[in-house]
Amino acid sequence: MTTSEKNTKQVSTKDFENIDVYWCAGCGHSGALMAILRWCVRKEVDPSQLVNSNGIGCSSKVGDAHRCNNHHWLHGRSLPIATAIKAVNPKLVVLDAGGDGDGAAIGAEHTLHTFRRNPDITYFFLNNQVYGLTKGQIAPTGHKHLVTPTTPCGSREEPVDMCRLAITEGATFVARAYSYDQNQLSLIVDRAFEHKGFSFVEILSPCPTYHREPDYDAIKDWYKDVIIDVGEAERAMQDALIPAEIVAPNYNPSNKEQALRAIEIAKNITWQTISGMARTTAMNGKLVAGILYCEENKPTFEENIGVSLEHPIVELDLSHNSADNQAVFEQLTREFL
Ligand code: SF4
Ligand code: MG
Repeated sequence: MTTSEKNTKQVSTKDFENIDVYWCAGCGHSGALMAILRWCVRKEVDPSQLVNSNGIGCSSKVGDAHRCNNHHWLHGRSLPIATAIKAVNPKLVVLDAGGDGDGAAIGAEHTLHTFRRNPDITYFFLNNQVYGLTKGQIAPTGHKHLVTPTTPCGSREEPVDMCRLAITEGATFVARAYSYDQNQLSLIVDRAFEHKGFSFVEILSPCPTYHREPDYDAIKDWYKDVIIDVGEAERAMQDALIPAEIVAPNYNPSNKEQALRAIEIAKNITWQTISGMARTTAMNGKLVAGILYCEENKPTFEENIGVSLEHPIVELDLSHNSADNQAVFEQLTREFL
């Protein structure tokens, strides 16, 4: 947006919308998109300086709906591409929006290596536990006992917890949010973009079309029972060890062990379903939400490979001394033969 445009009109999320995308009514992905667009409005982001790297699936339509430099890659490959874009032009703001198929299944190896590299990019991992685009097969994040077309008798497997993996494998900002809770999500989006280093934000994003839970008419009610704030998980943790009145709850997101314990404690909390019956869904514990882990001052991928803000690769004049460039290229080619 130009300065004169900004001076004459109020910026709104409409200014950051691109083509219309089609999600089912109530799809959580529209809440994730709205939180990103609202951040663009709050920060008055220049769309030409923003890159949104996406994979495949309903979740990856977030990029299509977002007016910025947007591109799609095969499952999970959007993360190494986003990493490279930031390294070549560190002045850009780079984000990635993908789903559980992208980040935890077919493309999981790329997620793992992005955790350990710590590039200064933000990854929104939209988790709805199923593959919505291909009619609801279970994803690796699908909980035990979840019934889907590929698990008609209920899943027998434990789900992968991507926040736990992110914390153990080196991500420096790890948070879990709920797409229907825009207040919490906005706060987390702000902090994720501010953070220097790799920000992993898992957004619990309901798929009302394919994700069904026994005892619940609306999937959003199931999420209400499943999600627990990290502060509450911490209190439950302290209650188990020391009575709450003796030690005040005080969750510290810079403490890696505490973050991992909060995730485990939440998994062990059961609840009664709304009909008062303890059913299989209640046997899977809860998902802890909030800012789980934040580590400041760890060198980023760009710092580790010596990327210069003053002289980024994108600004090098590669046409200059083209004869020299040709000689270097031929020398390198000979070395690789
Ligand atoms: Fe959203 Fe599920 Fe519909 Fe895909 S199938 S648009 S994930 S509600
Ligand atoms: Mg999915």
